[in-house]
Amino acid sequence: MKNNIKITIALIIILSLTLSILVGCNRASDILSIHMIDVGQGESILIITPNNKTILIDAGEASQGKKVKSYLLKHGVNKIDLLIGTHPHTDHIGGLPEIVNNFNIKKIIMPQKLHTSATFEKLLAAIESNGFVIDTPRPNSIIKFDKDINLHFLGPIKDYGDNLNLWSIVFKLDYKDKSFLFTGDMEREAEMDLIDTYSKNDLKANVLNIGHHGSNASTTQQFLDYVSPEVALISLGSNNPYNHPHKEVITRLEQSGVFIYRTDLQQTVVVLSDGRSIWSNQAPVNKKATLK
Ligand SMILES: [Zn+2]
Repeated sequence: MKNNIKITIALIIILSLTLSILVGCNRASDILSIHMIDVGQGESILIITPNNKTILIDAGEASQGKKVKSYLLKHGVNKIDLLIGTHPHTDHIGGLPEIVNNFNIKKIIMPQKLHTSATFEKLLAAIESNGFVIDTPRPNSIIKFDKDINLHFLGPIKDYGDNLNLWSIVFKLDYKDKSFLFTGDMEREAEMDLIDTYSKNDLKANVLNIGHHGSNASTTQQFLDYVSPEVALISLGSNNPYNHPHKEVITRLEQSGVFIYRTDLQQTVVVLSDGRSIWSNQAPVNKKATLK
């Protein structure tokens, strides 16, 4: 009798442990997280899918590489499935050699634009010495990245000569009902080219990573209307010499009723989604209520 009770109790414990692990897994396996890492004036965005596949977009200036590396490690990231260097400016690719030298990377994507800066050369050398290669996606190509997650590569759609910002890799991540558009430092001309090339549905996104740190050269009203986001993510440093974000951009976002998140005021911002709704670990800077 005593033994039976012991066995029953043991079974109940095992069952409830299994259940809690299953429930825990289910909950965890639903959530996509987007981390706009505070790298001061620059940009670095980590994306972790429900199945723990990872995308890293840029890694800020060279001085920020170690910070991005430790952020990744702190969040259990030790391999990067897709590394995207949006364009060859130092505030985006400067920190990437630190990442390339310290992580197992499955795929690297960069625009087909060479640059002669020491920072760019250093990145190319790091990529080569680690035996990685660079891919450039065709515009309007779609990668099935993970279950329910597609990446739609939109830009750059043409040769932009020496304007490096216009060469920025632009892509949209779709997760069930929700979508997230990443734009690097793309400016007006590239925005117009996207509008001319794609349907509203292709560009429409719930979350827009604002181009060029909130510069008025980006996020035109036409582009904003086309994308019609609910949430804007702006990566920038406080008291930066460019006066980013420009007040015209903030006004346009405010007038369009967009929730704004900014690394200069909030440090690292994490946005989460289960594919049906979107929320964050903090309230947007322009609304008192928490986003839900
Ligand atoms: Zn930049």
